[in-house]
Amino acid sequence: MIILQTPKNLSKPTSLSQQEKINWMKRLLSRAKLVGKRGEVPIAAVILDNKGRCIGYGANRRETMKDPLGHAELVALRQAAWINNDWRFNNCTLIVNLEPCPMCAGALIQARMGRIIYGSYDHKRGALGGTMNLAEHKSAHHKMLVEGGVMKEESTKIIVDWFKDKRKSS
Ligand SMILES: [Zn+2]
Repeated sequence: MIILQTPKNLSKPTSLSQQEKINWMKRLLSRAKLVGKRGEVPIAAVILDNKGRCIGYGANRRETMKDPLGHAELVALRQAAWINNDWRFNNCTLIVNLEPCPMCAGALIQARMGRIIYGSYDHKRGALGGTMNLAEHKSAHHKMLVEGGVMKEESTKIIVDWFKDKRKSS
């Protein structure tokens, strides 16, 4: 039996202009600020399909849901998988304001995410360049396009300010 690849498998993540990346990041940063006010580390993520349409949104809800898996990227992945009716994301793009941790980077590789765009580098826990790069590890069977540092200063400031406020109030 000959199995033909469907066009779906051949399509690529949408290409985004620098301005579009900035627009998405601005939206995520304003969402992240609201999340921060709820006592969560201010992180929000979206997933775009191959036409640039949002098919998943997630915000950090680890504290609210008492869920160790409640990271923004995983929340967005679950929603997008439901919308996509598939666990494969080769033609999709995930955008998040902070570099994914090892858990999320691992999940994104497992989900075969086509492209990752993130704002702030995380030099303590980042797993896509900040401390290590799981996307380039020999265990990564799937190659993702990764771009960090979109609105880097603003993205970093939100995280740094949140931790400063938290230390002040505790
Ligand atoms: Zn994570």
